Amino acid sequence: MGKIKKSVYFFGGGKAEGKAAMRNFLGGKGAGLHEMTRMGVPVPPGFTIVTDVCGYYYSHRHRYPKGLEREATGALRRVEKLMGKRFGDPKNPLLVSVRSGARESMPGMMDTILNLGLNDQTVQGLIARTRNPRFAFDSYRRFVQMFGDVVLGLRPRGKNERDPFELILERKKERRGIQLDIELTAEDLEGLVAEYKAEIKTRLGSDFPEDPVEQLWGAIGAVFSSWNNERAIAYREFYHIPDAWGTAVSVQSMVFGNLGENCATGVAFTRDPATGEKRLYGEFLVNAQGEDVVAGIRTPRRITELRDVMPRQYRELERLYKNLEKRYQEMQDIEFTIEDGKLWVLQTRTGKRTGFAAIRIAVDMVGERIISKKEALLRIEPDHLNQLLRPIFDHEAKQLAGKEGRVLGKGLPAGPGAATGRLVFHAEDAEARKRQGERVILCRIETSPEDIRGIEAADGILTARGGMTSHAALVARQMGKVCVVGCEALNVNYAAHEMRIKDIVLHEEDWVSLDGSTGEIIRGEIKTLPSEVLQVLIDRTIDPKQSRVYQQFTKLMKWADETRRIGVRTNADLPDQARLTMAFGAEGIGLCRTEHMFFAGDRPDHVREMILAEDEAGRRRALDKLLPIQKGDFKGILKVMGKLPVTIRTLDPPLHEFLPKTEQDIIELARKMSVSAETLKEKVESLHEFNPMLGHRGCRLGISFPEITEMQARAIFQAACELRKEGENPFPEVMIPLVGSREEFLAQREIVQRVARETMQAYGVKVRYLIGTMIELPRACLVADQIAQEADFFSFGTNDLTQTCLGLSRDDAGKFLPSYVARGIFSEDPFVSIDREGVGALMRVAIEKGRRVRKNLELGICGEHGGDPKSISFCHEIGLDYVSCSPYRVPIAKLAAAQAALRTKKR
Ligand code: PEP
Ligand code: MG
Repeated sequence: MGKIKKSVYFFGGGKAEGKAAMRNFLGGKGAGLHEMTRMGVPVPPGFTIVTDVCGYYYSHRHRYPKGLEREATGALRRVEKLMGKRFGDPKNPLLVSVRSGARESMPGMMDTILNLGLNDQTVQGLIARTRNPRFAFDSYRRFVQMFGDVVLGLRPRGKNERDPFELILERKKERRGIQLDIELTAEDLEGLVAEYKAEIKTRLGSDFPEDPVEQLWGAIGAVFSSWNNERAIAYREFYHIPDAWGTAVSVQSMVFGNLGENCATGVAFTRDPATGEKRLYGEFLVNAQGEDVVAGIRTPRRITELRDVMPRQYRELERLYKNLEKRYQEMQDIEFTIEDGKLWVLQTRTGKRTGFAAIRIAVDMVGERIISKKEALLRIEPDHLNQLLRPIFDHEAKQLAGKEGRVLGKGLPAGPGAATGRLVFHAEDAEARKRQGERVILCRIETSPEDIRGIEAADGILTARGGMTSHAALVARQMGKVCVVGCEALNVNYAAHEMRIKDIVLHEEDWVSLDGSTGEIIRGEIKTLPSEVLQVLIDRTIDPKQSRVYQQFTKLMKWADETRRIGVRTNADLPDQARLTMAFGAEGIGLCRTEHMFFAGDRPDHVREMILAEDEAGRRRALDKLLPIQKGDFKGILKVMGKLPVTIRTLDPPLHEFLPKTEQDIIELARKMSVSAETLKEKVESLHEFNPMLGHRGCRLGISFPEITEMQARAIFQAACELRKEGENPFPEVMIPLVGSREEFLAQREIVQRVARETMQAYGVKVRYLIGTMIELPRACLVADQIAQEADFFSFGTNDLTQTCLGLSRDDAGKFLPSYVARGIFSEDPFVSIDREGVGALMRVAIEKGRRVRKNLELGICGEHGGDPKSISFCHEIGLDYVSCSPYRVPIAKLAAAQAALRTKKR
């Protein structure tokens, strides 16, 4: 290490020897104080001892470079002059804080000492100045405690030993028969100072230093030493911060907001953190310490009232906040104190905000030319967009519910937003009540495809079982419903029409509210507010010109579209969802689950007839009834989507899912179908599988019953050909699910291709189309080169790929996955965010093998991960062409895709 030319940098009174660029010498915090001072921000004056001194201190057996003391004393004199106080003056003492600060912030890892300079004489000066002996002695006893611990090392020596100062304090309270620190009087606190000092003497054999200069150098040494305490070392190891950097030490004058009526303390944001509106927003208290504002003992006043109480200081604060925001190009959260009419800024940092505010601030700042569009895109958390698109709870009403103890429990937050309604336990009841104009929450142990109409009718869905990709979750998300699944504490009793969480029982018709963003289940009704963006975009009940939120939202989406590389499609099964797809500006449909079409009207009966048919001829008769219905659906979707691609998947779920489960349902259906209950029961039993997820599903159904695939292909191509004749240009992409080998795929491809040819010939038109496959089994990834010889496209079904790669059931994992995440065994739920090392590695193999054989192989993802920002970033990295997610996640996906593009460029 070379010679240190200058060890101490002074700041104060508008002048600073350091600046922001000197972060390496002054530490992050120090550089900030110098920079603010330079900008003319009234920062309490002080000085910073540079990081090089820390290195010197360690390499010279805890000694300091020559001249340091002289430099520091000189700087201290300048501080005294500016503050009109003197260090150690019994009448008007200057008190200082001694703080650490490395190049990178290491929050809470090193030590800090406040109120330094107090002793038995100066405390009298503080009393005289404040006329508040209680405050003075409280500051003094805190200082002795902090100094005793940090500098003198009087602290517990093992995990079983109690903090000696805390013990003394506790005994004091016991003797006085009180519970709270606040109940201690000035005399009590004065007594504590003496007892603390006596403890130091007994335990360490030395006196507490009364001399402020000795205190100062003791504290500076302790802060340098704290660079090498255990937690700081561990932190550096974790974040790869070099040991050689060292910490700086800033010594800064203390200021007090509680010296009288011309003092105050508060917090101010440069923009409203709830709405993002550009105005000074915050709270303050007259004659108070910073702690009082946060402790909630006194109710703080709105910052605008400061204008009436201290107009000059308010104006100054207003001027300052504009400068600070411009300098840092970000919304700031400013801590300030007014001492004897003088405004001081203690700290400024980036302010926390809601999703609404984040979007408004970013877009406004582009308009104000403070930041670029790119910066704006990077600043918004994609999930924040949810707040714009979903109904939300009225903030105060929700808080009140919390205070009243109405939060019953938590499940997995599977579909974000806020829903409130009356409790029902059956899909039919949900439908019936909805028809009467009621809002309902559908509560089920788990959901099955049959519940789809109930889900549609309900405002919110609550289940006891299932994970983030369970049927309930993915169907609800696709429909934009609020959904909480996998609530372990929830007991549902269908027969009694009630649900129980712990000892609280709710009955049918009781009001219940769900927060789909946090997973909370709340008793009672809570006021909700609709999404303004959706009112403009989908309901068309608000004129776009009238909605600022909408305008900002579309601006942001336009910037994202200009930036992203990866396409965004949706998972949509019905024409209505296709319309949403278009409204949100997606580029096609990435997954149409045809089985979801089997549940409207009298369709389930035809489906059941097909399943129960004795032979192929019987099945074909039933399929003939389904053909026109499916064709109608496909035509509807293809028409809405114009020339955009629509990926239609052939039948996937195991057949028994379509059959009745309870005895009663079986009897009813048997009557309807004119078969005996016995026959039906036998059939249901014969279709029973121990592990349906790994059973007769996916392309295995189409291979066993080719006529099903044939009917579906016919419906697709008849719909497309009819549209073609009407002058449209539809683009179906037929997708075969759960393929594990080339032969499986070929068997299905042959059928689809033949039907396509026949149909186009019959109609006399040509239709653009592709035939591809889902990649959702590890084997498919490993033999992707063979499959790609035959398939026009791959779409990763990461729900099943995660299930099969991890050997983890999608439907049952909800029981234990949360505890895996809580324990850090999984850093995240792999059904929510792609497990890069496992599932991700398989995807990479599939892509590499697939593209080697077919250069222009189209690659997409349609598992639920397609709407997760982190997974989207991964999809961008590995070179997918598009992601497909529920319509309501399109904006999130677009923003995440733009961010991925910007971040890769940056790298
Ligand atoms: C998947 O497995 O990722 C997928 C999209 O298919 P499904 O969720 O319908 O099984
Ligand atoms: Mg699947």
